[in-house]
Amino acid sequence: MALPLVDTHCHLDFEDFGAERGAIIDRGRAQGIRWFVTIGSGRGAESADAAVALSHEHADVLATVGVHPHDASAATDAVMTAMHKLALDPRVVAIGEVGLDYHYDHSPRAVQQEAFRAFVRLAREVRKPIVIHTRSAPADTLAILREEQARDVGGVIHCFTEDEAFAKSALDLGFDISFSGIVTFKNSESLRSVAKVVPHDRLLIETDSPYLAPMPMRGKRNEPSFLPHTAKHLAGTLSLEEEQLRRLTTNNAIRRFGLDRFGATEV
Ligand SMILES: [Zn+2]
Ligand SMILES: [Zn+2]
Repeated sequence: MALPLVDTHCHLDFEDFGAERGAIIDRGRAQGIRWFVTIGSGRGAESADAAVALSHEHADVLATVGVHPHDASAATDAVMTAMHKLALDPRVVAIGEVGLDYHYDHSPRAVQQEAFRAFVRLAREVRKPIVIHTRSAPADTLAILREEQARDVGGVIHCFTEDEAFAKSALDLGFDISFSGIVTFKNSESLRSVAKVVPHDRLLIETDSPYLAPMPMRGKRNEPSFLPHTAKHLAGTLSLEEEQLRRLTTNNAIRRFGLDRFGATEV
């Protein structure tokens, strides 16, 4: 029996899964996903409520809460008050995904920056790690993490697509590096070279489902049961046995999200 995996970033609340949600969680379990971290951020402010509710329905699902940079304009005072309350829920293991996305610019940059700062402060207040989404905004992301003293709680750079210099800065700031299915894509050679320099005790994997299905599922709707493809591929990239890759990423996830509080034991 292969060692278990942790999907450190999936969006189980998304409509894409609809009535199949329960079956999808079961399929993940059948493929060895022992824990699911469902991200309460991504479809407006409602994702947070939905993610927390899912984490209370399933013993192996834990939640994060936040407002995605795309929706930063929705992070009003009332929403931040609601987020604060949700963040205290014991089944909420991190704040996120929050950050900056200057590729799509769905919210004005100044608004994204303000929301990002507010969530870093919230994370420090509730003493929970931060799940960062960053795209085309490396300098501002690092500057805000430094200025807001994010190192106090650390966290994860999710769906990592930046370069080696960014990875090193993020690691120094206490952020682990999480790879999605992108690392399996043919044209991701430069990303694979970054993966090789990430210390083994700082490496995580995720699906970011329903997006970014790994090879050979690329193009399909992604789901947690596809995570073993990413594990296998990344093990090959790092010249590790798949079991070693599973062991280190699972143990890193348990530590990062404090999953021992829910009965997780390192493998
Ligand atoms: Zn993201
Ligand atoms: Zn995401």
